[in-house]
Amino acid sequence: MSKIIELSALELRDAIATGEVSATEATRSYLDAIESLNPKICAYNQVFTEEALQRAEQIDKKRSAGEQLGLLAGLPLAIKDNICTSFGLTTCSSRILDNFRSPYDATVVEKLIEADAIILGKTNMDEFAMGSSTENSAFGITRNPWDTSRVPGGSSGGSAAAVAGRMCVAALGSDTGGSIRQPAAFCGVVGLKPTYGRVSRYGLVAYGSSLDQIGPITRDVKDAALLLEVIAGHDARDSTSVDEPVPNYLAALDDSINKRLRVGIVKEFQHDSIDQEVIDALEKAIEIFDKAGAEIIEVSLPHSRIDIDSAGRITSYAIACYYLIATSEASSNLARYDGVHYGRRTSQKVNDIIELYSKTRAEGFGDEVKRRIMLGTYALSAGYYDAYYLKALKVRRLIKNDFDAAFEKCDVLLCPTAPELAFPIGQKTDDPLKMYLSDVFTIGANLAGIPGISIPVGLSKSNLPLAVQLLANVFDEQTLLQAARVLEQTIGLGQLKPELIEDA
Ligand code: GLN
Repeated sequence: MSKIIELSALELRDAIATGEVSATEATRSYLDAIESLNPKICAYNQVFTEEALQRAEQIDKKRSAGEQLGLLAGLPLAIKDNICTSFGLTTCSSRILDNFRSPYDATVVEKLIEADAIILGKTNMDEFAMGSSTENSAFGITRNPWDTSRVPGGSSGGSAAAVAGRMCVAALGSDTGGSIRQPAAFCGVVGLKPTYGRVSRYGLVAYGSSLDQIGPITRDVKDAALLLEVIAGHDARDSTSVDEPVPNYLAALDDSINKRLRVGIVKEFQHDSIDQEVIDALEKAIEIFDKAGAEIIEVSLPHSRIDIDSAGRITSYAIACYYLIATSEASSNLARYDGVHYGRRTSQKVNDIIELYSKTRAEGFGDEVKRRIMLGTYALSAGYYDAYYLKALKVRRLIKNDFDAAFEKCDVLLCPTAPELAFPIGQKTDDPLKMYLSDVFTIGANLAGIPGISIPVGLSKSNLPLAVQLLANVFDEQTLLQAARVLEQTIGLGQLKPELIEDA
C-alpha cells in the first residue's frame, strides 16, 4: 500500500474501515508531516496534537468493538480559522480575535465530528477572509508548497497549502469571492464552493453574509463529493440555509451522465492580458470535453465582461459590484469587534467608551480590514447609499440574470479559475486593486449564488499548478461534480504532488 499521507480521503477511509490502517496511525502520519513541513509553509495557526490522537484512539476502539463508523471515520482534516470550534481558538488570523474561544461548534464542525472525522487544527487565512494571497494574516504568510517564494492564494491559503502539502487529507475553507477556488487552483488541489444556502453558515465568522459559503478543499473530485455530502443540508440555526434534500453526491459520480453534457464557454472571459498558460489550460479542457462527446456552446455574460481600466488593469462590473457589496456587508459584520463583546481589548488608558472602541479596533485590525471597513461604511452612508450600495445591488441582479440565461443553454460553464498562476510573495501587496483582480473569474458565482469548482489540469513550464473552473446552476452540484470528474479522469492527474514532499 502507498504511504498513508498519499492516500485520498476515500482510500484512507476504506483502509481504516478494513483495519489495514488505524485512525491512530493515520493521525500520527499527518502530525509528523505537519511537524516537518509546517514551519516552512505556515499553513496552520494551531494544531490539536493531543486531542486529535485521543479522538483517533476512540475511533479505533469503536471499530474494534464492531460499532458502526461514520462516513469520514478516522480522516484527519483541517479547518479554516474562521470556522468556530468549541476547542482551541478561532482567530480569523486577526489580532482582534487572537484570544477568542468560541463557546460552540459551527454546524459543519458538528457534522464532521458526527461523521467520525478527526480535526487536526485550524488553518491560516487572510485576516477575516479578506484577500487573495494569505499575506493579510496577522500570524505570518502561508507559502505555496509548489514554490515557497510564491503565495498559496487566498483567503483559504492555509487550507489549500495543507491539503497540497500532505499536512491533512482534506480541509474546509470558506468562499466569499473565490477564497476556496483560487487557492485550490494555486496549490494544485480541488476546491468546491457550494450553492449559497447548501451548507450552513452557522458558526462561520461572517464577512459578506450574502456571499459567504463553506466548502471542501481536497486532493480529488470524489473526496470533494464525499465531504460535501457530509456538510450539506438544512440547518434551522441558519435562516439562509435551504431545506432541499442532500443527494448522494459520491454515488452519483459513478453514474454515467444520462444526457449529452452542454458545456458553455463565456464569450466575455477572453482577454489578451490573461496569462497564456491559463488560456492554454482552458483550451485543453475544452478539447477534453469535446472528445468526451460534450456539446460546446458559446454563451454570453455581458455584465461580467472583462475590460481594461484607465491604468491598464483587467477589470469588470462584477469586480466593482462585488467590492461594494462585500465591503458594505463587512463594515456591518465587523462592527461587533469593539473590545467588549469579543476578543481583544486595548490595554491603553482610555477616557470613555468611544476611545475604548477606537483604540481596540486600531490595534486589533490589519490594514486591509481597516480599508474595507472604511470603504463599506462610505458606500452605506446617507447620501452615497443610492449611488453605490443600491446601484451595486442592481448590477448584482443583472449579473444573476445573465447566469440564468446562460444556464438555459448549457449545464456547466467552463472558464479559468484565476487570470494567472501563483504569484511571488509581495508582488501585489502595495496595490490592493491589482490584488482584487485575482477574483475576476470567481466572484460571479458568489454574486449569483451558484456553485463552482476549481480542478487542477496540469503543471506550467515553471512547475506551478494549472487549473480550470466549472460553474453550474443553483443546487446542481451533482452535474458540477460529474463534469469535474470527466476532466479529472481524462487528464489522469488525480493527485498532484509538490516536489518538496519527500517520497516514502
Ligand atoms: N479575494 C476576495 C476578497 O478579498 C475573496 C475573499 C473570499 O472569498 N473570502 O474579498
